[in-house]
Amino acid sequence: METLVKIIITTGDLLGLWDTYAWLLERLTHGRGRIINFHRVADDKPYPWMPLGSIRLNEFEKRISYICSKYKLLTLQELAYRILMDEPLLQDSMVLTFDDGYKDMFSNAYPVLRKYSAPATVFLTTGHIGSGELFWWDKIGYVIYNSRLDRIQLDGVYHSLRTTEEKRKTVDTLLAEADTGSEDRKKMLINNLVTASGVKIPDGLGEGLTLSWSEIRAMSNDGIDFGAHTVTHPVLTRVSLEQAKSEIFQSKIEIENRLNKPVTTFAYPRGMAGDFNTQTVALVKQAGFKCAVTAIPGMVSQQTDPYQFGRIAPGDNRRLFKFLASGLWYDLQSRRSG
Ligand SMILES: [Zn+2]
Repeated sequence: METLVKIIITTGDLLGLWDTYAWLLERLTHGRGRIINFHRVADDKPYPWMPLGSIRLNEFEKRISYICSKYKLLTLQELAYRILMDEPLLQDSMVLTFDDGYKDMFSNAYPVLRKYSAPATVFLTTGHIGSGELFWWDKIGYVIYNSRLDRIQLDGVYHSLRTTEEKRKTVDTLLAEADTGSEDRKKMLINNLVTASGVKIPDGLGEGLTLSWSEIRAMSNDGIDFGAHTVTHPVLTRVSLEQAKSEIFQSKIEIENRLNKPVTTFAYPRGMAGDFNTQTVALVKQAGFKCAVTAIPGMVSQQTDPYQFGRIAPGDNRRLFKFLASGLWYDLQSRRSG
């Protein structure tokens, strides 16, 4: 099945179907928006323990070059503004977003964005900026890949760590395991894992991985927008409403104070269905954000709720990306569900 999908995507691309579909639909509709959801832009030697949502630098540059040849880039604020003001969307419009606030945004992505004069929005998890605190998924990756044990016991279950392949599988299992249940349970599981692994996470590792405020300031003065992504990256429906409010409000206030600019865009942590609800959306509005992005796959039209913008993953390769950005997949999905 997977091979068949690959063949279809490759053949469609070679025949130019995806670009044609995108072009045609844009002209038949009143224009649609696409918000791309990047995370990390890894250089040639990515940390083996952090494959999550990475795209390689050379692939990233090719992707941006393609995007600039086919699409009109605008900022998320501009896209939201058009919807809020009931103005038609621009044809072939696209927005680039980067989640979490990794340092490779500054060292790898930013020089490429500058070269192509491409605007972008970066969503910052403010508690991780300048604190040295690793994201929970990176803690799992780091301790598993650096553990010298053959196996590790967690909640009565043994996980094998003898080879890189076994470690990779264990990381995947533990990421899924930690990503269910409450935020308190997640914290406990990760603390237990760090202890059981026998690995000490070095001080300063987090600083080397996340943006600093001076890097953020430099980019902010040079066309890159910053939005909020909470303080500690909890799934907002898995914490109390009071805590959700504090996470949403505090992240906005901190960025505004540091950059001396209004922060109007928000990204829900994890961002899939169930990771935000009507109460979360109400808090985001109450905080003064003008729009919010999810991680739910989808295109943006004039009718889209600006507090639930869907996004498109950059995909593993350029052909898949072209296919996704054409909108065909989402059009087929909405036909099936509608
Ligand atoms: Zn995130």
